[in-house]
Amino acid sequence: MIRVENITKTYQRGSVEVPVLRGLSCEIETGTFTFFVGPSGSGKSTLLYLMGALDEPTSGEIVLRERKLSAMGARERDQLRRNEIGFIFQSFNLLSNLTAVDNVLAPYLTIPRDATQKRPEAIKLLRQVGLSDRLDHRPAELSGGEQQRVAIARALLKKPSLILADEPTGELDTENGAEVFQHLRRLHAELSTTVVVVTHDQRYIQPDDRVLEIRDGLIATATSKADS
Ligand code: ADP
Ligand code: MG
Repeated sequence: MIRVENITKTYQRGSVEVPVLRGLSCEIETGTFTFFVGPSGSGKSTLLYLMGALDEPTSGEIVLRERKLSAMGARERDQLRRNEIGFIFQSFNLLSNLTAVDNVLAPYLTIPRDATQKRPEAIKLLRQVGLSDRLDHRPAELSGGEQQRVAIARALLKKPSLILADEPTGELDTENGAEVFQHLRRLHAELSTTVVVVTHDQRYIQPDDRVLEIRDGLIATATSKADS
């Protein structure tokens, strides 16, 4: 479903060019659970943002479900991000003044009719991630693990075909981290959603997962059960 073709990404820091990705290629099949691992600073987040059309590569192409991201206009990219991709970030990215339910509904709050219509589903998703008694809590009134579960419910509300998670357990202890992965695994098993997780923490990798290691801006090793 995702084809990354010879991607380079060079950041400009003042007059200094910082090459991060150096001609990286890989493919992610529909319905797989894929990890990108690698040392801090190796370009994992950069790659994830490029795959999610949050940023553009310096050169190369990303093809998502047979559509070239470079050929999309701003509107089409917006719609792709808004409707098809569920993003989960290390720092949860919740809105501090909104309740858990409204955070799940946040992408739709600008259109009140949509938000009202989706509200029951938002509550159902919060129940599924174990937060039925936290619906009206604001982020400051929730633990880190609970905040990340709100973010998962928010990502799920759009029934995404693709979940992109950047260090989703980076700010959580082992127990809460394991719980976040339980929800991602359940979603993957039940809906066959393609899940891509970027992490430097290899604790949550399971034998069937595909693991791609980024080093020096390239894929250093790729393993999956099929290869072994
Ligand atoms: P990782 O997620 O693997 O830790 P990143 O993709 O966040 O790595 O960053 C890779 C490198 O790119 C780092 O050296 C980082 O400092 C640099 N970098 C990331 N974003 C920017 C940016 N917006 N401007 C300049 N340099 C950046
Ligand atoms: Mg990162």
